[in-house]
Amino acid sequence: MSKRVGIIGGTGIYTLPGIQGLHEERYQTPFGDVALRVGELAGASVAFLTRHGEHHNLAPGDINVRANIWAMREFGAEQVVATACCGSMNPDYAVGDFVLLDQFLEFTKNRPARFFENDPTKPLLHIDYTDPYCRTIGACVKRAAESAGLQVKEGATYCCTQGPRFETRAEIRMMRILGGDLVGHTNYPEVVLAREAGLCYAAIAIVSNMAAGILDQPITAEECKTVMSQRFEALQKLLEGTVAMLPEGGDCACRHAADKAIL
Ligand SMILES: [Zn+2]
Repeated sequence: MSKRVGIIGGTGIYTLPGIQGLHEERYQTPFGDVALRVGELAGASVAFLTRHGEHHNLAPGDINVRANIWAMREFGAEQVVATACCGSMNPDYAVGDFVLLDQFLEFTKNRPARFFENDPTKPLLHIDYTDPYCRTIGACVKRAAESAGLQVKEGATYCCTQGPRFETRAEIRMMRILGGDLVGHTNYPEVVLAREAGLCYAAIAIVSNMAAGILDQPITAEECKTVMSQRFEALQKLLEGTVAMLPEGGDCACRHAADKAIL
């Protein structure tokens, strides 16, 4: 089996029951050890990682993103598909919708977003992120959705805030003015590190709630949990279909972006 795919499950996605022969593989990385759950899904060898830990106890800013992405590369994944539980500030993206992320705006604090910071022995990389999410994977997600009778919306600009708190009305208003559609806490720096590692990366957002001030009611973690569990089965089907559609071998521009990044 030569196709190797990474799957990163966000909030609400702590297992993927479709994976056969599930076992744990540990990877040592320069940033710490990572345990990946490895098995077989839709004809591919997959490595599954739950971003916040199995008990949802890792805060967004504490996730060892560099180690996670490094481990995915060590596993041999060429493509990584992630999920992102999001709030929506755009009524076109409604609660329960699946949405492919297209762009991001970043509002996080002090998160390491390069593999080798403060290391003058490594070249300084100026990587292109004009389109930060892999279009090849995106096309596979769309095809998988069509064949499963699911709808996946596109074109969303994701705003990444520090979390884990939810945002204020004013923050959401500001992000909306800036062109934001969805808000979440974890897709940055995962998306940028994946490209630095030479991996194709795409993220499927699940709208779990409307963002602060969009509806005149407070946001609760409980509503996010309910929506995620209601959409879990469909999301699982979408991920499985996507893995089946992903091209085996071949190439993609994402994997060479870092090669062209040295001045
Ligand atoms: Zn790609």
